Amino acid sequence: MNSIVTFPNRIPVKEFEERRFKVYTDRQLDKIEAIQNLPEDTLFEMKVVASVLPFRVNEYVINELINWDQVPNDPIYQLVFPQKAMLKEEHYERVAQLHREGADKKEIQTIAKEVRDELNPHPAGQMEMNMPELDGEVLDGVQHKYRETVLFFPSQGQTCHSYCTFCFRWAQFVGDKDLKMASTDAGKLHGYLAEHPEVTDLLVTGGDPMIMKTKNLVQYLEPLLDPEYDHIQTIRIGTKALTFWPYRFVTDKDADELIELFAKLVDAGKHVAIMAHYNHWQEITTDIAEEAIRRIRATGAEIRAQGPLIKHVNDDTDAWARLWKKEVQLGIIPYYMFVERDTGAKNYFEVPLAEAFNIYREAIKKVSGLARTARGPSMSAGPGKVEIQGITEVQGEKVFVLRFLQGRNPDWVQRPFFAKYSETATWLHELEPAFGEEKFFFEDEYEAMKKGNG
Ligand SMILES: *Cc1c(COP(=O)(O)O)cnc(C)c1O
Ligand code: SF4
Repeated sequence: MNSIVTFPNRIPVKEFEERRFKVYTDRQLDKIEAIQNLPEDTLFEMKVVASVLPFRVNEYVINELINWDQVPNDPIYQLVFPQKAMLKEEHYERVAQLHREGADKKEIQTIAKEVRDELNPHPAGQMEMNMPELDGEVLDGVQHKYRETVLFFPSQGQTCHSYCTFCFRWAQFVGDKDLKMASTDAGKLHGYLAEHPEVTDLLVTGGDPMIMKTKNLVQYLEPLLDPEYDHIQTIRIGTKALTFWPYRFVTDKDADELIELFAKLVDAGKHVAIMAHYNHWQEITTDIAEEAIRRIRATGAEIRAQGPLIKHVNDDTDAWARLWKKEVQLGIIPYYMFVERDTGAKNYFEVPLAEAFNIYREAIKKVSGLARTARGPSMSAGPGKVEIQGITEVQGEKVFVLRFLQGRNPDWVQRPFFAKYSETATWLHELEPAFGEEKFFFEDEYEAMKKGNG
């Protein structure tokens, strides 16, 4: 005889109070109490760097994620607070001099823009390529690089609850209009998806789409329940709100509506994947962070975790192992470890590929199979996502074994290829083919694609 098992209602163990979102930008550095005890020089340096690179941090991050006893080495402090060495010496000096002279804001902005333009604001040809068209018109805010997945940048989601100092989308945050690429046009997105049956995944990204009001998200996502969009099996939402503002999923005014939206999409047969950006286990140490995770998962949505390997933040085997274990414990699926992109303050954050691979391997060795779903270290480069699979020796030559996890041509995926080993290389373009070959197997085709796209 079958007995019916009923599960007790999953009542949250703890009630959470609504919390007001309070944020500081470069103009309010002197209002942040927690940093007022730092040395005068440090505060000046912050001010200088924050006038070039985006700076924004909220009270929750300051008060609950940063361990101030560990500053300046605290990983979350490094994640959000500007440091002098994030700018090249010559850039720093140029801007610092203006501040010392008491130059006006406009003057500082002009120089700051010149400096930014030298920092590769749009890596991996984000601007020139991947621009899809609908009815002969280029679509703003939509990128279609890999066959199965369309990226959508809703214009209401082009900021974040705090900014990561290493952000590769930093150019969008500093107000240079010509660098912004976003869309408000739900109709055009839907039109494009309707015309592209090969697309299975929509990835809503930003900035942080979780900055948006739920009603905006509804407007983009609910229409996808129409049979016309049956080919869109998966709706992914990239976010760092689980770190920077977990209240978004728990106590914000439209948090319940958001949770209902996820549940509705799931119930209608979509896979909802929250692509959580995590760098360090310290991001998941508060009750509210765990409650947000619990609420999302209770809808049937999955949370997958990805994030870059960053010097001063998480260039540490134990930190990764502990992060992955924590994720698995909370039901999150480790997904990608990225290599920091070649943009912005890369000089400060970069970790050589050889070292990145060793950190990855040592961390993977420490976790169970359930945490070994994390792939990487992976470079999101022009031709695709390229993973360092290993370091080995073939007939006396030390090499990197590489593979495409994603390719501009899907046929490139999963073909092993080889580059000469290098202690210092930090990105794909610094690698040379191994075994005396002239080019990597994909290079001619990739060059032709670039020309084709203008
Ligand atoms: C990473 C990425 C995707 C998604 O790739 P998956 O391997 O499916 O996670 C899609 N588009 C772009 C441009 C990307 O960089
Ligand atoms: S959350 Fe993502 S988009 Fe926002 S600042 Fe950090 S890296 Fe950039």
